[in-house]
Amino acid sequence: MPTDAKPTLLIALGGNALIRKGQAGTIEEQFANLAVPAGQIARLSRTHRIIITHGNGPQVGNLLLQQECCDAVPRLPLEILVAQTQGQIGYMIESTLDSALMDLGIHFKQHFITVITYVVVAEDDPAFQRPTKPIGPVLPEAQARQAPYPTMATPKGFRRVVASPRPVSVVEKREIRTLVDMGFIVICCGGGGIPVKREGRRFQGVDAVIDKDLVSAKLALEVGVDQLVIATDVEGACLHYGTPDQRLLGDLSALEAERLLAEGHFPAGSMGPKMEAAIHFVQKGGPRALITSLEQIEAAVAGRAGTRIARETGP
Ligand code: ADP
Ligand code: MG
Repeated sequence: MPTDAKPTLLIALGGNALIRKGQAGTIEEQFANLAVPAGQIARLSRTHRIIITHGNGPQVGNLLLQQECCDAVPRLPLEILVAQTQGQIGYMIESTLDSALMDLGIHFKQHFITVITYVVVAEDDPAFQRPTKPIGPVLPEAQARQAPYPTMATPKGFRRVVASPRPVSVVEKREIRTLVDMGFIVICCGGGGIPVKREGRRFQGVDAVIDKDLVSAKLALEVGVDQLVIATDVEGACLHYGTPDQRLLGDLSALEAERLLAEGHFPAGSMGPKMEAAIHFVQKGGPRALITSLEQIEAAVAGRAGTRIARETGP
């Protein structure tokens, strides 16, 4: 039973909520960066029920590298490393949020919980034949070309890539809904969720990393949230991004967004999945999706910042 009539926000935190461009990604840097969204989420929790999802690209890639540097213990498959990052980042978000709530003096009223989440993917997803999801650090070109695993040139430089199948369904959606209805801030679908395939009633982990924007849209629909908020390191989606004609998009209908996506304004692997997630959420009945910077989550929710996608853009 819902404890109140607060609207629900699903806030998807990008990798840069933890590690900013140009940083090495020390644990001190990651905690300091997280304080930016955590302060805003703590304030928003007074008026909204909240679900937090997050990426894990740098962290899961680092874990892969760490275990490849050591032959003394058996190596773990990617699905287990994704699970590790859910615990690691879930803890970091929880403790940062705890401090932010304490600063507001409302920590005793507001509880949070991290849910280990797995996400069903299709065994025959064509993504398994073509790895596209960059993980881990940027590699020198010579190292990338000789690496014993697939790599790709990304806008940030050469990186390792793994398969990224589409999310079919979040296994723990009922548990998440129940916890949200009970008033918990729920941290879930970390790193896009642990990818599993279904074999009858059993689940089997697979070697892949699911896109956190796409799974956030899926969860937002399965749980029925009011706004999907995708927070990243730019103010919003732009036309002609990175050119002198660059222009930030404000209010946008799903139809317009689809047209711009088809015109190639939002590349795969960065703004593309965010726009796709926003369009999918709105077209399947979600009221509104926002793409905004980590600094402007509150302003975007108030309608004053970011790119705001709705079925129709009314007056
Ligand atoms: P996250 O870790 O939050 O998922 P990504 O790096 O995947 O972040 O995506 C955000 C990046 O998308 C921005 O830093 C920006 O460089 C890039 N980008 C590409 N095209 C656009 C666009 N049309 N508008 C805004 N940003 C864009
Ligand atoms: Mg991304």
